[in-house]
Amino acid sequence: MPGSDQGRPVYPIHPKIDEESPIMPQPMTDQEWEAQNRYLSQNEATMLGLCWHCGGQGVNWTAFGGVQREVTCGVCLGDGTAS
Ligand SMILES: [Zn+2]
Repeated sequence: MPGSDQGRPVYPIHPKIDEESPIMPQPMTDQEWEAQNRYLSQNEATMLGLCWHCGGQGVNWTAFGGVQREVTCGVCLGDGTAS
């Protein structure tokens, strides 16, 4: 039906990710995933005013059996500040 779609911009379908990019997302191992966690000592946390449990990041990373999750820090509830 020519003409029925006039005025509607045509976008390319799902632009492809640049395959020539040298930085390809690599799947992380569970260990690497959990290595993103940052824990502070109580002293450091107090000095920096950051949550000790997530290092001010607001999230913790957990992985088990290849299931990798990013969860909101249960100590600061995601705001990353010392309570
Ligand atoms: Zn926290």
